[in-house]
This record gives sequence, C-alpha cells and structure tokens, in this order.
Amino acid sequence: MIFVASAASAPAASGAYALALRLDAPLEIRLGKIAAQLPAGDYLYCGSANGPGGLRARLARHMRPKKRVHWHIDRLTAVAHVLGAFVEEAGDECALNAALGDLPIPVAGFGSSDCRRCVAHLRYWPAGAALPSRWENARKAAESPPPA
Ligand SMILES: [Zn+2]
Repeated sequence: MIFVASAASAPAASGAYALALRLDAPLEIRLGKIAAQLPAGDYLYCGSANGPGGLRARLARHMRPKKRVHWHIDRLTAVAHVLGAFVEEAGDECALNAALGDLPIPVAGFGSSDCRRCVAHLRYWPAGAALPSRWENARKAAESPPPA
C-alpha cells in the first residue's frame, strides 16, 4: 500500500483505493430515499478502479471537482477537499473497507449499492483516529523525503 497526494503519483494499474476527503462544512446528502447530513470533518471512501488508466485515471476523476454526478462519491468530491488516497495495486475495495472496521459509518448504503458485503463504503475518520499500521506506514512514507 502507498499513499499518494495526487493522482499523477498513482499507478495506472487496476486496484483498490481509499480516498481521503475533508468537508469544511456539513453536507446534506440525498441518495434515493436516504437523506442524511454529513458533519464537517474527514472521511475515507473505498473504491476500486479496473477501467482504462486504472487507479491513476480514477483518482484524477475524483480529484476533479467538476464532473457529471455518476456515483454517490461524486456528490462529496464536488465540495470536499481530496487530501489524497491510499492505493493498493490489485487490492480489493471491500477488504480495505473491512480494515477500517473501527471507524464509524455515517450513511448506510453510501457507495455500496452493488456490494453485498459492506454496509457502506464511506467511513467517518474522526480527528486523531489512528488507521491500521499498514496505512499509517504508507502515510509516513509519503511524508518523508526520498533517501539521498
Ligand atoms: Zn464492499
């Protein structure tokens, strides 16, 4: 697993990712019959990219604020800041989501309409909440300068 701050740093291969997002203000969200309010704060959204351009192309789409709303997550990326993404080549989105099992689920059904395993693919990431060590290590590796 690696952490990337921009889509250009992500591999063009297929795999799974967890997008890290920040909402500066609460967001009203409507998904079919579900209406919910997401509090301001940080979120992690788990998805997978298997199309042309792989993870790089998918993350570039998420990081672009203007686009046609196609997925639930598009409503969030239209207003939230994308902080970066945890990326796992050949990974599985539900496995990433399961690894975040300690983090609260703000809206049941968000991003998981076609998933039978998860309640939602969006997690609230409370300030200071630690992620699994593999994730924290990826984040630290991205922050430290490359060896001279
Ligand atoms: Zn799932």
